Amino acid sequence: MVEDGPTLEVEIKPRKNGKPVCSKCGEKGPTYDHQPKPRRFDFVPFWGIAVVFVYTMRRVNCPECGVKIEQVPWAKGKSPLTRTYAWFLSQWAKLLSWSDVARMFKASWSTVFNAVEMAVEWGRKHVELKDVTAIGIDEISWHRRHQYLTVVYQINEGIRRLLWVGEHRKAKTLLKFFRWFGKERTEQLKYIASDMWKPYLKVIAYKAKNAMHILDRFHIMAMMNKAIDEVRASEAKKLNFEGREPILKNSRWILLKRPSKLTVWQNAKLADLLKYNLKSIRAYLLKEDFQQFWQYVRPAWAEKFLKEWCRKTMLSKIEPMKKVAKALRKHQALILNWFRAKGEISQAAVEGLNNKSKLTIRKAYGFRSFRTAEIALYHTLGKLPEPEFTHRFW
Ligand SMILES: [Zn+2]
Repeated sequence: MVEDGPTLEVEIKPRKNGKPVCSKCGEKGPTYDHQPKPRRFDFVPFWGIAVVFVYTMRRVNCPECGVKIEQVPWAKGKSPLTRTYAWFLSQWAKLLSWSDVARMFKASWSTVFNAVEMAVEWGRKHVELKDVTAIGIDEISWHRRHQYLTVVYQINEGIRRLLWVGEHRKAKTLLKFFRWFGKERTEQLKYIASDMWKPYLKVIAYKAKNAMHILDRFHIMAMMNKAIDEVRASEAKKLNFEGREPILKNSRWILLKRPSKLTVWQNAKLADLLKYNLKSIRAYLLKEDFQQFWQYVRPAWAEKFLKEWCRKTMLSKIEPMKKVAKALRKHQALILNWFRAKGEISQAAVEGLNNKSKLTIRKAYGFRSFRTAEIALYHTLGKLPEPEFTHRFW
């Protein structure tokens, strides 16, 4: 509803002898009576002028359902938005934040939310899931710390999109996905990529026996970065405690980024750091050494490299890195599947989609509830279908 400024009121009257449509069954029936007060429906504003449809609803005396309120073609149920306006707002909400859309059309935030929710509900109902053969399962933290969402993406070479969002990251959460996805489609799955989160591993092994399960590159490197971060933080603390030169100051991103992504200043700092025999630096070098792993073509050679790397790392006396090596050893088979699936799935997909999801969550939409986050994620990343007429305004 536009808050102030001029308003164009369009009064709508039913055709003479036109029969109302029952909102329950969709059949026409005789008019029972009229509602005492007309309802107002927001239409797309023109040049800053609010456009409102004003219509007195009738009740149908439906032979099937009894006395019911009529269904009007321009709006759904009790919504005060016309369908046209709802689609219009939801399209803008793909380009701008919800509060920007609200400001631009002088609508309220909840009006924009309702519009997007309508678009998502329609799209989810009409979404095509026929050719999904590769999925990636991921978790994203949100809201408060230690709160997670489980997200499932389609990661086929040609199409990458968000398929499903669930609250938490429990076994139960992922089971819900498989229930929604259906048995038949699950049997068609050829590849499933995920991280090492135990409940996911368990559910995947139980539910999708036909699919090749892959621990993907993105999650393995993320695990390694987490270990390096841990080593660096505790070493910096120790240096500080011993009153030594704070050489690790401002080194965090230098150790986490790839050398090719460093700035000139960061490169100089890295060259300097490499001169010290620090645990952080040795951990960093182990990680950089590991990058070579992903270059192998044949799984057998990759396996040889992996074993050697784990052996070396186990001798490093760096606990967080040893933990990584142990995890890699334990999941070796699933990691080597990465090489067997090369070319079949979009390898960078999970990482790219993960970044976009985080960005969507972070945007100031005022996410207080799971419902809001869910709707925003589907809207931004779901590649959901839309009815033909929505393109009329573009
Ligand atoms: Zn009816």
